Amino acid sequence: MSSRSTTNGRPGIATSSVHAGCPESRPGSPVVQPIVRSSTFHWAGPDDGLDLRYSRYGNNPNQLAVAGKIAALEGTEAGLALASGMAAISMTILSAAGAGDHVVASRHLYGATHALLSGELPKRGITTTFVEPSDPAAWEAALTPRTRVVLIELPTNPTLRVFDIEPARRAARSAGAILAADMTFATPVNIRAAEHGVDAVIHSATKYLGGHSDLIAGVVAGSRELIAGVTKMMKLYGGSIDPGAAWLLERGMRTLPARMDRHNRNAHALARWFTTVEGVREVIYPGLARHPDHKLATRLMGGYGGMVSIVLEGGGSAADTFCSKLRLAAPAPSLGGVETLVSQPRHTSHVDLASAERDALGIPDGFVRISVGLEDLEDLKADFGAAAHAVLAPS
Ligand SMILES: *Cc1c(COP(=O)(O)O)cnc(C)c1O
Repeated sequence: MSSRSTTNGRPGIATSSVHAGCPESRPGSPVVQPIVRSSTFHWAGPDDGLDLRYSRYGNNPNQLAVAGKIAALEGTEAGLALASGMAAISMTILSAAGAGDHVVASRHLYGATHALLSGELPKRGITTTFVEPSDPAAWEAALTPRTRVVLIELPTNPTLRVFDIEPARRAARSAGAILAADMTFATPVNIRAAEHGVDAVIHSATKYLGGHSDLIAGVVAGSRELIAGVTKMMKLYGGSIDPGAAWLLERGMRTLPARMDRHNRNAHALARWFTTVEGVREVIYPGLARHPDHKLATRLMGGYGGMVSIVLEGGGSAADTFCSKLRLAAPAPSLGGVETLVSQPRHTSHVDLASAERDALGIPDGFVRISVGLEDLEDLKADFGAAAHAVLAPS
């Protein structure tokens, strides 16, 4: 298990994360590209030999830097930066499907993606069949002659399931549909989805790609043709990224492999340690042999990721106490930043479900999702250890 390095003469992922997408250096040029706030760019006409530049088109220098960097990190022909992860997902789907068309999607999806597919797109004539992604036959069985998009997400939130991409890829190919994958939890450091046949690799860049909980953004990587289609939708629906956010995102992406290496190691060590902590009933992490997808995760992933989930013996009230006693880790939604955050799905992503429904999804009361940050492991253990102790011995 190590992050990927130089192959076939192509720069390795750490080199790409630092250099790709940046303009070539010249004597006197700035080492760091400035934020170009200009909404428009001088252009007299086609004889200028340049494309028309306008920041809603996604071709501002800061937007282009992110686009070039994500394409290099994913190993695809092209990339695109957008205003949010949801803009990346919705523009990708709308680029491939219209009224009368059909989507086959994993039933384990980010809440807003599920709401878009089940509540919003049907109003525009696009229907979705949700399938159980761990059943390889389910993908093929759900296809219709109008299936245009097959959508998968891994690892899943918050149960950290890892599914085989291959059955979804085969179904997409046989239908002539695109295979889109939300790889937010994995990052290109842990899985390069295009190498597994994913056509549209999507991230909420708000999370690990930005990495500092200080921006909202999304990215898509794929073939030139696919990205041209998504860009067309982005221009029309107006989902382009602000140059300031693009600059910050490009800066964050420079350290992605270095950060992921530590997220992976901190999370793995913390998960192992949690298995020894009194009052913790279950520890969910793809790197543990007890995880249902451990073998597959080992085959697919360069690292097991920075997310760990635990289930406390005392249920919801124990989890409330546990979270309230933390001093270093902070309760907040979102993930993927340098700081450790905790959240309870019953209060956030899964608040609309009844306790029994959450139970059936593998999210019993007492479930705490942890986005493990870059702090010293011993400090994190001390913080979580004290909180677990406070649950068992209320003062
Ligand atoms: C956060 C998230 C999104 C949505 O991203 P935004 O940047 O908030 O629009 C989509 N998918 C996953 C897996 C996420 O974690």
